[in-house]
Amino acid sequence: MIFALVILVRLRTGSAIAKIAARISSRAWLQGLIAAPLWLLILSALELPAAVLGHRVSLRYGLSIENWLPWWADWLKSTCLTLILGVLALTVLYALMRHSPRRWWLWFWIFTVPVVVLLTFAAPLIIDPLFNHFSPLADTNPALVDRLEQVAARGGLNIPPNRIFLMDASRKATGANAYVTGLGASKRIVVWDTTLHVESMPEILFTYGHEQGHYVLDHIPKGLTFSAVGLLLAYWIAFRLMQRLVSSQGESWRIDAVAGWSSTGLLLLLASILSFLAAPVANTFSRAIEHDADVYGQEVIHGLVPDPKATTVRSFCSDAMVWLDDPHPNRFVEFWTYSHPSTEERAQFAAHYDPWLPGQKPRFFKKAD
Ligand SMILES: [Zn+2]
Repeated sequence: MIFALVILVRLRTGSAIAKIAARISSRAWLQGLIAAPLWLLILSALELPAAVLGHRVSLRYGLSIENWLPWWADWLKSTCLTLILGVLALTVLYALMRHSPRRWWLWFWIFTVPVVVLLTFAAPLIIDPLFNHFSPLADTNPALVDRLEQVAARGGLNIPPNRIFLMDASRKATGANAYVTGLGASKRIVVWDTTLHVESMPEILFTYGHEQGHYVLDHIPKGLTFSAVGLLLAYWIAFRLMQRLVSSQGESWRIDAVAGWSSTGLLLLLASILSFLAAPVANTFSRAIEHDADVYGQEVIHGLVPDPKATTVRSFCSDAMVWLDDPHPNRFVEFWTYSHPSTEERAQFAAHYDPWLPGQKPRFFKKAD
């Protein structure tokens, strides 16, 4: 992707697209409605081969059972979403660049943060249902909800049963999964229906306990704060680099101004480089949060399952089996790209973690419990 964008910038694609847009309208924001979607479609086209290959491999190894027709329908839906959100972001960004050549990075950040918060709130209500079907878990598995309520009660929580959803993942995938999503009134725990086939009851309680950990420990607001700080820094770096590159290379790449639509390719190139470089930082943060949720999950099922240590280890192992995880990932690959600690690390930790032993102390619970 980065390589392809470098070639497009050097081939002066930005200026060609800006010229097409200028021929259609003389207004900058209307030009954006031509240039921005063209660039976003180029990006989608560049990502397509890897996505197709990824799905082929998933089908080949039985991780996915989704036919090609619904897969393409999903791809089309997500491309439309990217187009809508991307065009909105780019037209606002370029309007800010034109009005405030020195402070646009700050104004755009002030615009982005509430939009990201709003999207986090709206995702489970509007976006997720476009791709999967969700129903209250209590509708189909009231007995399981009763057990999960015990876990919630042990955590001193009152998660209403209508905040626990079942997702019909088995139409598309075979692996087990669960996650916490949304914010405030839309906050919820989602369990993939595949989990119920792959895991035993105690393992499901741990998987759920881990998700409850994210819920209780406010990992979504923490993650949002972390991204907001990261975005501010990234926007400022992009601002400085755009300024410098357009003044030094603008002529040879035919980019007339930072705020002109001829610069979009360069901007997208910088955005991909920055997000690639930010990945290890974001993933290190994510692995720390995931580890905390593991500790919470293992502690919260104490007293509810016969052997929390063995249950936790087994849960990691059965997940790793169905997902065909690499048991010994390369340390560097893990550092750069893994959002969770490797299964081996998680299982190793769980196997040696027993805070109810004499002299040990649980992190999130009192020992008397
Ligand atoms: Zn997690």
